[in-house]
Amino acid sequence: METRPTALVLGAGIMGLCTAWGLLREGFSVVVVDQAPPPNPRGSSVDHHRLIRHAYGAQAGYMRMVDAAYAAWDELWADLGEVLHVPTGVLAIGEADGDWLRESRAALRADGRAVTDLSAAEVTARFPYVSGEGLAGAFWSPEGGVLLAERIVAALAKHIVISGAVIETARAVRVDAAHATLVLEDGSRRRADALVVAAGPWIPRLLSGLGQRVTASQQVLVRLAPPPELAESWARAPMILDLDGGFYLVPPVAGTPLKIGDHSFSLTGDPDDPDRSADPREAELILDLARRRIPGLDGFRHLGATTCFYDVEPEERFVVEKISQRAWVMSGFSGHGFKFGAVLGRRLAEAIAKPELEAFIPAWAAGEEVMPA
Ligand SMILES: Cc1cc2nc3c(=O)[nH]c(=O)nc-3n(C[C@H](O)[C@H](O)[C@H](O)COP(=O)(O)OP(=O)(O)OC[C@H]3O[C@@H](n4cnc5c(N)ncnc54)[C@H](O)[C@@H]3O)c2cc1C
Repeated sequence: METRPTALVLGAGIMGLCTAWGLLREGFSVVVVDQAPPPNPRGSSVDHHRLIRHAYGAQAGYMRMVDAAYAAWDELWADLGEVLHVPTGVLAIGEADGDWLRESRAALRADGRAVTDLSAAEVTARFPYVSGEGLAGAFWSPEGGVLLAERIVAALAKHIVISGAVIETARAVRVDAAHATLVLEDGSRRRADALVVAAGPWIPRLLSGLGQRVTASQQVLVRLAPPPELAESWARAPMILDLDGGFYLVPPVAGTPLKIGDHSFSLTGDPDDPDRSADPREAELILDLARRRIPGLDGFRHLGATTCFYDVEPEERFVVEKISQRAWVMSGFSGHGFKFGAVLGRRLAEAIAKPELEAFIPAWAAGEEVMPA
């Protein structure tokens, strides 16, 4: 007979899997339910890469949480037996000395973190594949890198199963938070002592209350391969962030494609739509944002444009909250949650195991305050 406390996790994206990992470490018997076996390419977490960096505009809470995030990833790498992070550093740039650039620089400095201002000429001298033309501001921050997202999700799913969790492929049609129960499509029920709902962009459908706060948002991204003569320099390039209305660029590390996207929210789209191709005009708009900055971009091989979903909270604050005595929701990750998957999963699992920690989770996850050590 099972004597351990039991936990049920809906969603095998990075949030659900990391929470399952944390719950196993806290001694729970864990079942994860997902509509598709992980890694599910339609979930927000499954793509070649996700970025982790301290540059966070004025959101100093999230900037500081990145230290805890790195510590939690290190714990995960130790459990997985491999490091799925490639350090790149951050080149932050702006055509106007915009809010995000200015506030990131100020917050990093105020916290005593390494940050070097660069003139337009210094940007080009240091990173010859980036044009300094028209740059109003730039800085270099040595911390930050690429998390190999799809490989992390796949390895973590395997790891938790080896550690005793069950991952069940089934679609949940209803969440009965009061009874820590999921009702599945075939009418059967799964229940446990504790329930965590981490259903990514599908969440507004399952928890109608959250639909007022969180919106699924289809985002376009473009994958490219630099020409062979530039491949080596690009593979060693930093992430490039032009987040005052511009673009982000993920360098082609560890055999992945180079990726360009933007961070403006569409706030439309249906995560159940199997067609994840991008409108070519939208892909062209993304490329236009980067063209001026990356000379020769049109000579890069186009590997395809696709779409992926954010679950957007209006202030981009995470929602990790109790929805009943025995159930929690993890949502509102607004296009910046992956980097915090390991630390959010570990901390939420600790709070489920030790209720005296519960009260700290929502504000901390919303980027407002630091958790007690
Ligand atoms: C293009 C793009 C770029 C991004 N870049 C970054 C970045 O650089 N850095 C960063 O930190 N973050 C980034 N993010 C955000 C980050 O990827 C997400 O915040 C994170 O992956 C969310 O994980 P999740 O587990 O909440 O959701 P998901 O990964 O979507 O997982 C939810 C899971 O729940 C399952 N599910 C949903 N409903 C049901 C149901 N009814 N029954 C059964 N299963 C169900 C789904 O199948 C899915 O597997 C980016 C996101 C996108 C889309």
